[in-house]
Amino acid sequence: MLIDSYDRVVDYLRVSVTERCNFRCQYCMPEKPFSWVPKENLLSFEELFEFIRVAIDEGVKKIRITGGEPLLREDLDTFIKMIYDYNPEIDLAMTTNAYLLKGAAKKLKDAGLKRINVSIDTLKPDIARKIAQKDVLENVLEGVEEALKVGLKVKVNMVPMKGLNEDEILDVLEYCKARGMTVRFIEYMENVHAMVDIRGMESDELLAHIGSRYTYEDEGFDGHSPSHYYRLEDGYRFGIIEPHKDDFCKQCNRIRLTAEGQLIPCLYFDEAMSIKDAIKRGDIKAAAQVLKEVVRTKPEKNRWSDPDGEQSKRAFYETGG
Ligand code: SAM
Ligand code: SF4
Repeated sequence: MLIDSYDRVVDYLRVSVTERCNFRCQYCMPEKPFSWVPKENLLSFEELFEFIRVAIDEGVKKIRITGGEPLLREDLDTFIKMIYDYNPEIDLAMTTNAYLLKGAAKKLKDAGLKRINVSIDTLKPDIARKIAQKDVLENVLEGVEEALKVGLKVKVNMVPMKGLNEDEILDVLEYCKARGMTVRFIEYMENVHAMVDIRGMESDELLAHIGSRYTYEDEGFDGHSPSHYYRLEDGYRFGIIEPHKDDFCKQCNRIRLTAEGQLIPCLYFDEAMSIKDAIKRGDIKAAAQVLKEVVRTKPEKNRWSDPDGEQSKRAFYETGG
């Protein structure tokens, strides 16, 4: 079992399979980075899987494939099947912008993927075009329908922003409610890569919007999820991820692996250690050592709640959010 210095059990690994993306979301990757990581620097699926095996053997129980946009990486279903075949009990999930999901959903489900989180910030085509800087909405919504059709469990992530999609909080909630999908509103996390004029919304403002139509009960946290859950009077449950309150750090159980083999203990901070050399040498013991060291050095909490904290330099498209 992997336990950090604050007695938190770490059993959740997020794996970013590419930093590349087919969207240019204002809050994440508004411009193409100066250069992409050269393809030869990426770990192959076999190499990523070698490390995943180490992590599973050390106690990891949940794996989320993310990016950048994970569906841009070819043969993702083969990678998913490798993990599933090694241990079918792993809670195997993926986060995607859904642009390419329609054609991929069935293959991914058949390979062993259980759940997906889809980012839907708006239901208006022109606002989607503004946020992602591309005409994306039709593909995204078709991708969601297909995922539901093939039996994947779907959650939705929305980043509410003032002057962009703040008037759609209830619309996105209703869209999700009608399809039995949980929506989680993610407070915008300031970072140096995002467009400078983004104004995020904090949980009190989100709840005021929802409270204008519904009464709701506060259910608090559920297990290790960073999401604070609320239940409407009709039983529907939605969540808010509030990095500006650092109380979710207390139950944080996750670490992150980038496509280049950097193992990251906390989304906020730059610190990371590479597993690349160990994996390329086939040195499983050394890879396990790096894993344990990263868990040992996991910080107590992020600094989004710290008014004097510097902005996070981490690119979400690199770490997988
Ligand atoms: N491309 C996929 C997607 O968009 O779902 C997966 C990667 S994306 C980095 C993962 C999640 O991070 C998305 O739900 C996205 O909305 C969220 N995200 C990215 N940048 C963010 C920011 N600055 N603040 C809050 N959430 C952010
Ligand atoms: Fe791409 Fe996801 Fe970042 Fe948007 S949030 S730019 S879809 S990685």
